[in-house]
Amino acid sequence: MKAYTYIEQNKFALLDKEKPQLLEQTDAIVKVTLASICSSDIHIKHGAVPRAVPGITVGHEMVGIVEEVGSAVTTVKKGDRVTVNVETFCGECFYCKHGYVNNCTDQNGGWALGCRIDGGQAEYVRVPLANTGLNKIPDSVSDEQALLVGDVLATGYWAARISEIKEEDTVLIIGAGPTGICTLISVLLKNPKKIIVCETDENRITFVKKHYPDVITVKPECCQEVVLAKSEHGGADVVLEVAGADSTFELAWKCARPNAIVTVVALYEKPQILPLPDMYGKNLIFKTGGVDGCDCEETLALIEAGKIDTTPLITHTYSLSQIKEAYDLFENKRDGVIKVAITI
Ligand SMILES: [Zn+2]
Ligand SMILES: [Zn+2]
Repeated sequence: MKAYTYIEQNKFALLDKEKPQLLEQTDAIVKVTLASICSSDIHIKHGAVPRAVPGITVGHEMVGIVEEVGSAVTTVKKGDRVTVNVETFCGECFYCKHGYVNNCTDQNGGWALGCRIDGGQAEYVRVPLANTGLNKIPDSVSDEQALLVGDVLATGYWAARISEIKEEDTVLIIGAGPTGICTLISVLLKNPKKIIVCETDENRITFVKKHYPDVITVKPECCQEVVLAKSEHGGADVVLEVAGADSTFELAWKCARPNAIVTVVALYEKPQILPLPDMYGKNLIFKTGGVDGCDCEETLALIEAGKIDTTPLITHTYSLSQIKEAYDLFENKRDGVIKVAITI
């Protein structure tokens, strides 16, 4: 089968590989029907993900049809249409029981697919711990509608959930890339008083204005000023940092009011400075980290009910044989791209 593979820094290639086999009774083999490219794949390409293993098939955002299951898999069966969760988790360890599935202590726990083990920009993928890693797609939900459930939507949904947003809040979201927009979609479900989205890219600003007309958009250079003018208590009540650019962490805590929650979802390529003397007395609550992708069943139900729609994010579609061009477009943000779907 064809599989898009991390060869070495700055080099991915479409290789012929053996079709994956069940290794454990808790595994499932999924025939991938639609995959996507994530900015984390680009981070791997740039060598910014040290735990990524050269030689692995990349891709951790995909949907497909269950081809085969191990004897211990009970939640899905051959022929089921499923989303694949970016996180691999056992559901039984201390962290899983608390919902912190990103920190699952299983050897494959956390983000393994397309990073430490073969992922899904390929014809087939082996999903370990398939009882928790796969979710059945409701019949009325298309592959396109479900494509982002396992990764960027999971991230946005989790970010909104941990940010404790209330209806009287002014919420600032920094970054309107795919994860930023999924965060926005999830924040909208919390119905806060005002939402401000800070973004530098014109295409992305246009996208937000077109699809979410009630949201205030702002460029980074006037972000602090606008947030101050639009908030009642000297800054945003909640800030979600989803950009991960050089200066966006600083922007996040500067735009927050005292005692605000600042949720940092971004995956930075460089270390960030936490200048505690400058923020002394501001009493901020920082929440950081990687997605605990355990809400996929809930988000699929919200999609089925028409409350979440991520299909406008899929601006381009390519076949697996054209995946190199798809990466090129996505990485260089050409032609107003937000997300690329890869048909397999
Ligand atoms: Zn991702
Ligand atoms: Zn676990």
